[in-house]
Amino acid sequence: MNNTTASTQATTPAAALQLLGIHHVTAIAGDPKRNVDFYTRVLGLRLVKQTVNFDDPSTYHLYYGDSVGTPGSILTFFPWSGLRRGRPGNGQVYATAFSVPAGSLRFWEARLLAHHVAPVTSTTRFGEGVLTFADPDGLILELVGTNESDTRTGYPHPEISAAQAIRGFHGVTIAVIDAARTESLLTGAMAYRVAQTVPGRTRYTVAAGGPGTYVDLLVDSNLPRGLPGAGTIHHLAFRTPDDDAQARARATLVDLHYHVSPVMDRNYFHSIYYREPEGVLFEIATDNPGFAVDESVETLGTTLKLPAQYESQRAEIIAHLPPLT
Ligand code: ZN
Repeated sequence: MNNTTASTQATTPAAALQLLGIHHVTAIAGDPKRNVDFYTRVLGLRLVKQTVNFDDPSTYHLYYGDSVGTPGSILTFFPWSGLRRGRPGNGQVYATAFSVPAGSLRFWEARLLAHHVAPVTSTTRFGEGVLTFADPDGLILELVGTNESDTRTGYPHPEISAAQAIRGFHGVTIAVIDAARTESLLTGAMAYRVAQTVPGRTRYTVAAGGPGTYVDLLVDSNLPRGLPGAGTIHHLAFRTPDDDAQARARATLVDLHYHVSPVMDRNYFHSIYYREPEGVLFEIATDNPGFAVDESVETLGTTLKLPAQYESQRAEIIAHLPPLT
């Protein structure tokens, strides 16, 4: 992996992490049924997995993505009915951007307005059109109409053509008061490099680059401090190819004195977690084994799947979860 940007860290790690881009983004939501309705019906994503929060099985964990839940397409939610809204701001992943074909933004603007998603703001960023809007809980979302090569295909939806469909993530924007320490981590151990920069916003990329890899650091003195709650991002997960690469990443981060969790088995991937210097929770997740490990590709997301440790409590768990449809 080539790291073309010199690290400003005093302790440059011997082995940079092997990261391929974004794996998934996990957010907090309110009503789960409303969440499913918005992401599947309005945005046209596939509900690829219904499961529970492995750390709190009284709560859903819902995964949306492309047809098979390819890493880099997966937006996940912990929904709690009636949960108080948070506030997007500094110290958080502030916005999550999806990649759509450059010519599709007019379609999307009309579609969002037709579904009473308002306001929808249209801007240009690094030469590409961007639509910014919020989901029903206030989570800030963006559609980036990009001319960059993006061969990923979206999930078929009767009202959204292949030339319009969401193809996966474009990237995320992390809001910080001071970007120096986060930049140092990204361009040091995490092997990210600067792609583009304008005053207040620097875009970083990793590995092969392109949509699905981008992390923007935003410094905007008008932003408040972020507060957790419905409509905010819980954590950002980066892709690593396999368990060996993850073990090496963990060793590197521990060497750098990050408090890194043990490897957690999330059934569909394996995860480690650590907090970057401005407080954003980062995860490194493996590409293996994927979402078809406990149900067929054809039936992904259609029934509640539980990890082995909760299967004996299935009836009790279901009794306490609100219906999704
Ligand atoms: Zn995660």
